[in-house]
Amino acid sequence: DVTIKRGVDPREIYELESEIGRGKFGTVYRCREKSTDLELAAKFVGVPKKEDRRNVEREVDIMRQLQHPRLIQLYDAFENGKVMCVILELIEGGELFERVIDDDFVLTEKSCTVFMRQICEGVEFIHKQNILHLDMKPENILCLTKTGNRIKIIDFGLARKYDPGKKLQVLFGTPEFVAPEVVNFDQIGFGTDMWSVGVICYVLLSGLSPFMGHTDIETMANVTVAKYDFDDEAFDEISENAKDFIQCVVQIQNETIKNVILKPGLCLPVYSQRMSAEQCLKHVWLHRSERQIPRHPSMDMTKDNLRQFVERWNDHPNSPYVFETASHAILPCIGSGLRLSESLNSLVALSPSPCESLASSPGSDNAFL
Ligand code: ATP
Repeated sequence: DVTIKRGVDPREIYELESEIGRGKFGTVYRCREKSTDLELAAKFVGVPKKEDRRNVEREVDIMRQLQHPRLIQLYDAFENGKVMCVILELIEGGELFERVIDDDFVLTEKSCTVFMRQICEGVEFIHKQNILHLDMKPENILCLTKTGNRIKIIDFGLARKYDPGKKLQVLFGTPEFVAPEVVNFDQIGFGTDMWSVGVICYVLLSGLSPFMGHTDIETMANVTVAKYDFDDEAFDEISENAKDFIQCVVQIQNETIKNVILKPGLCLPVYSQRMSAEQCLKHVWLHRSERQIPRHPSMDMTKDNLRQFVERWNDHPNSPYVFETASHAILPCIGSGLRLSESLNSLVALSPSPCESLASSPGSDNAFL
């Protein structure tokens, strides 16, 4: 069981090698444990403030509970002055989307089910531990090796313990993948991750981002009304089962419809809850015994689209936002009769800013009500 070593420099125990990744909060290096020669990854996070430290402590605490083959494994942790370091299992295959756009990779609907199945297995385990990941997006899905098909979910920096009996609201997320209840500052839950899993699936199958607008505000407005379709040519060859799978998770939940779209007293249309990860694994599209997905020759159009998607993300890394509370107070207007353009005009001034200097905010106490 990993306990944080205080006042110890990780370089006494691990030899740092090349940098392998960088996020909003941390820089990740390849490293080697001196005593065993084991190759690992070291994520360094600056913790100038007390709350920054608490955030990393929370991440470590959560990762301790998440021992599963589909999830990145924690190996060691350090606090050394204003820097904390977590030593992680090294994952060498790179990001999933980088992998699937490779010329050598044959992308088919079947291969998408192989990845989606593993993502759901990972999320199922996270949820079974009463934890929400809250930052499910393509760059947090890594391939174990350069040639195999096994994936791992990474980055528990925004994850939270979740008590289904208690109301939990958060003010962060990545606009293209975030669920409407986050944008609306409504109650979140297991379904919040499932929405993002569905959006990842949509992008994987088509290379298109279902809610992307010209601005983040427009993207979030599209999210709040769950405005998406399968009309693009990229979906022509995609099975109905795959589309049904997406629709069963990328849907507005009853509570949000009640609060945001319908006026009091109106009957609710019949919307079931989003599928849980466990239900996803039993869905006909993913179920081992039932799935008989035609092996399409190749999804060339999807691959071209995915290349553009990856290029765009690399140019403008889409790190989590800390939303301004004010924009949450206004966004529900979009669903309640205000013309979208009017709402958007009033939102521009409140556009949430990327959390350049807010490394600590996602975990600060005001991230919760
Ligand atoms: P974000 O800005 O998305 O919150 P972060 O600062 O929390 O990111 P991570 O997402 O954990 O940092 O790591 C940044 C990048 O480093 C990842 O996108 C990934 O490419 C790489 N990376 C992280 N952990 C590992 C690992 N264990 N093995 C290999 N690469 C890793």
